[in-house]
Amino acid sequence: MSHDGSPSFSLPATLTHFKTAILDDGMLLVGFDYRGKSVNVLNVDSMSEWQHIVQAAERSTAITGVLLMSLKEGNFCAGADLEQMHEAQRQGSFRSMEQLVEIAHQLFDAMDRSAKPFVAAVEGSCLGGGLELALACHRRIASTHPKTCFALPEVKLGILPGFGGTQRLPRVIGLPAALDLITAGRMVFPRQALRMGLIDGMVSSVPSRMRTLEAIQTETLIQAAISQARSLRSAPARQRPLRLSQRLLGGPLVRVLLCGYARHQVKKRVRHFYPAPLRAIDAMQRGMGMSVLKGSLMAEKPLLMELMASPVSRHLVSLFLAGEDVKRKAASVPDAVTRVGVLGAGLMGSQIAGQLAEKGYAVVLRDVTPSILAAAMGRILKTQTSQVRKKSILPSELRYRLLRIAPTTTIKDVSPAPLVIEAVSEKLDVKRSVLAEFESEAGPDAIFATNTSSYTLTDIALKAVHPQRCVGLHFFNPVAKMQLVEVVRAPFTSDQALAQACGIAKRLGKFPLVVRDGPGFLVNRILSRYLAEAVILVGEGVPIRRIDTIAKDFGMAVDSGHPMGPLELIDLIGLPVAMHVLASLAVLGSRIESRDALLRNLLADTRTPVPFWKSGVENRQALDVIADYRRAYPSEARPVSDEILHQRLFLPMVDEAVRCLHDGIVEQAWEVDFALTYGIGFPAFRGGLLTWARQTMTPEQIAGKLDELSHRYGKRFEPFPGLSHGGW
Ligand code: NAD
Repeated sequence: MSHDGSPSFSLPATLTHFKTAILDDGMLLVGFDYRGKSVNVLNVDSMSEWQHIVQAAERSTAITGVLLMSLKEGNFCAGADLEQMHEAQRQGSFRSMEQLVEIAHQLFDAMDRSAKPFVAAVEGSCLGGGLELALACHRRIASTHPKTCFALPEVKLGILPGFGGTQRLPRVIGLPAALDLITAGRMVFPRQALRMGLIDGMVSSVPSRMRTLEAIQTETLIQAAISQARSLRSAPARQRPLRLSQRLLGGPLVRVLLCGYARHQVKKRVRHFYPAPLRAIDAMQRGMGMSVLKGSLMAEKPLLMELMASPVSRHLVSLFLAGEDVKRKAASVPDAVTRVGVLGAGLMGSQIAGQLAEKGYAVVLRDVTPSILAAAMGRILKTQTSQVRKKSILPSELRYRLLRIAPTTTIKDVSPAPLVIEAVSEKLDVKRSVLAEFESEAGPDAIFATNTSSYTLTDIALKAVHPQRCVGLHFFNPVAKMQLVEVVRAPFTSDQALAQACGIAKRLGKFPLVVRDGPGFLVNRILSRYLAEAVILVGEGVPIRRIDTIAKDFGMAVDSGHPMGPLELIDLIGLPVAMHVLASLAVLGSRIESRDALLRNLLADTRTPVPFWKSGVENRQALDVIADYRRAYPSEARPVSDEILHQRLFLPMVDEAVRCLHDGIVEQAWEVDFALTYGIGFPAFRGGLLTWARQTMTPEQIAGKLDELSHRYGKRFEPFPGLSHGGW
């Protein structure tokens, strides 16, 4: 093997983000290793270096092919540098981004047209621009490393794949699959990628610990990619042609129909709130009749630049970077736990145990009877089986996951676990007795993390012998879907307990937002104002459908794919839990008014809650209960306009958020925005609760409107004195 410096291959500048080596047969190995970041990103710096390498390889007669790989553990390339894009959006100046896009188009086209084979050896996440880079290679070989995944998630940032992705992906996997992947930003794993033709080979490979070009060359993945590149040398390098079925679905008429159907599906899912998926379809449809380069420059680029300048994209990119900040800020621990105890195998405990087993933890799941445990294991099996059905995991992986969970009714079995997550029934005495049991059995350093949603950590740990080991780990329901976890810190919580709780949330793929202990923590405290007001409106005779429609028209929960108003949300949370949360927040004073009589009637005799909605229509039984309540508590029926209804639902949340900041529950307004977006489905395209409020009205106007509402509807609307001063 010779190294760069070979007389016939010379790079014009020293490389900062890439390492190169040349094999004896002229194969150029290129290792991407962006300096100063944990993942590889594409920006003007790295793209210019890659351009030098591609041009030098093209010029040199000694180079017979190029193999691109990553020297980062678990990441091939994360795509375009979002910090750079965010800066451009803040300044409203996009020239540098446009330059980057132009370089990418010319460069990827040169790779595409090169007679020398370009092969990408993908291990770890291959996202956005990273996948577009891999798509410009003639072949892609991936390893089955647990972090290997592929996606063009740009629409989730309010833009479209802008390095030729809208043009190349349909040509590699066919239009129907490309429409699906791009418009939803959907992620696929190696097996699915192989089936759809996104990659050309898959190998199981043990990654080298030493991430140097020399060390990783012996890996099976790199060896497989080298032989793939060698086999391409004999014929002019070309992308693998589409399968016949994929080609048939690419004809002009079928294309129009497929794109029309995709538009219909997108509008159904995200209504008119998100323009990016629709623009991506436009780019694909227009570009399919042109060459890739022409399509990239004429169809894709103008739409990308238009989307990048939109407020929706600015908000989505801010929230994405906020998530990165949350993960970065959450302390991590070198001696992370591998075994976890879960106390309570109900709705939440079973989901948490399932998630832990999925991520490789050994779990001891404890409840009070074998039948409850059997039901929990049944639920876990059902959820995990759906992944086998979707072919994202093999049946053998499902078996391993289930074997990792040991159900038990004995607390002693939980004692070897260094971390225990408590998800028992929401009753203070039960929680305290479970904590006492834990303390009597657990090792001296074991950590107790409670998933309570309505008690404070201080309440639960009141009688603890070692309160420093107690921390809150507040997951949201459904656990697999909700990305936020509030990590609750009380004054007595140790740094070690906090770090372990953050670490486990991070390894479950969640965003661990550290919040200060207090009633309702952050999310439920703000949410309660919204839910309580919705119930008050029902009690005043405002139709259930009207209340939920106002919220859905605002975009509530649209990002989850299931828009939802406050009353449907109460049905989802479950009335008993919702009532518990509202009751526990009564300590906040007159601003939490819950209509207990109405809610109690909905819980009525059978203890089976009467939901507001049943099979998509207002529940007849709920309407009867509401009518009875209104007869018993007649109120003056005052017509309420949509505008006032909207203000009554959303302005109290803003008021409560400002109070939370004042109380130090979190310190920054962006943390509120982030938490509400990922915790309760506040629409991401609005940038979060406080961003929306600031952009809609001045602080004085918000305080003024709350004042008016308080004169009309009661003290609960009285604004926090600091609200009108702004600064939040
Ligand atoms: P659940 O009633 O479905 O489950 C509670 C389980 O705890 C039951 O299976 C019960 O048998 C078991 N249990 C009772 N005493 C026990 C003991 N001593 N040891 C072991 N198990 C015991 O309740 P859930 O909805 O899963 O809620 C559990 C916790 O999660 C609560 O603190 C709740 O506030 C919180 N939480 C709930 C939600 C939600 O949407 N339901 C969301 C976030 C947090």
